[in-house]
Amino acid sequence: SPGARIAVVTGGNKGIGLEVCRQLAGNGITVVLTARDETRGAAALEELRALGLSDVVFHLLDITDASSIARLAGFLKARFGRLDILINNAAFGGVEYARGPAAAAGSVTSEEELSGMDRDQRLEWLWRNTRETYDAAKKGLLTNYYGTKHVIEALLPLLRASSDGRIVNVSSDFGLLRFFRNEELKQELHNVEKLTEGRLDELLDAFLEDFEAGEADARGWPAAFAAYKVGKAAMNAYSRILAAEQPTLRVNCVHPGYIKTDITLRSGLLTPEEGAGNVVKVALLPGGGVTGAFFEDGQEASFV
Ligand code: NDP
Repeated sequence: SPGARIAVVTGGNKGIGLEVCRQLAGNGITVVLTARDETRGAAALEELRALGLSDVVFHLLDITDASSIARLAGFLKARFGRLDILINNAAFGGVEYARGPAAAAGSVTSEEELSGMDRDQRLEWLWRNTRETYDAAKKGLLTNYYGTKHVIEALLPLLRASSDGRIVNVSSDFGLLRFFRNEELKQELHNVEKLTEGRLDELLDAFLEDFEAGEADARGWPAAFAAYKVGKAAMNAYSRILAAEQPTLRVNCVHPGYIKTDITLRSGLLTPEEGAGNVVKVALLPGGGVTGAFFEDGQEASFV
């Protein structure tokens, strides 16, 4: 509707992303639901339309594809001339899954396995049902860090054209610096006044090299879901760099909680609705709020 704020959500076809679209649209915001697959995206759009949410449009977006990103930017420029809210939600687990999410969600076995388990036991279960490979690790960084960064870079002019441009990066508590056991590395990622995007690229290259050589553990990179943790930590550091560079925007990161979605083989403790609520809360913070911050459990929290 005219005058409404415009939001883009990446990976909007399922999980937390779909719920974020629903909740933003329910708040009177015009939502551009994006997905990399036309059929899955159209089905998600239909689902929201069936709920009476008419102010949602669909656009294709694969965040790892530069031309796909450029097409979305072109569409937004022509249709709206600006962007008010960018929710970078799309991500990949950075591991190979030993069983499909459908099996995890539907099979009696996994339901039985999961019931009564606490958070750590569930994460342990998830770990046992995944496998770290170089290809998955690389795809994890290309999607979660580089893909997100390229989307931001392409949409930055449109966000700057808004009077209240906001970027919410859906990060993770797995991206916190406490998982890095190499002190020097941890300090480098923490000291964002000195850190550059070029240096971040070098660090990610070094991680992949160490990973391929089977040395990631010995070099003090995070253990278990290493590529996911490294990619989210890089996203956090980049968000802080960007926040300082773009004082007219608000750039924040949020941990949605441990959620029952495909990326966790539905092993989480909270629903997608609850996870999305944590994201939307940050997106809709009243004017004049913080930038370059991390949010967890609805509160500002440490990046360490
Ligand atoms: P899902 O696996 O349910 O959703 C991931 C979404 O990302 C899907 O829509 C998927 O699309 C999309 N996606 C993956 N790769 C691309 C790509 N190259 N281009 C465009 N879209 C892509 O997971 P969640 O909903 O749980 O994850 C949402 C966010 O929340 C992620 O950033 C995740 O890291 C974060 N998060 C989740 C936690 C949890 O416990 N679930 C905990 C902490 C953070 P497709 O259907 O086509 O694969």
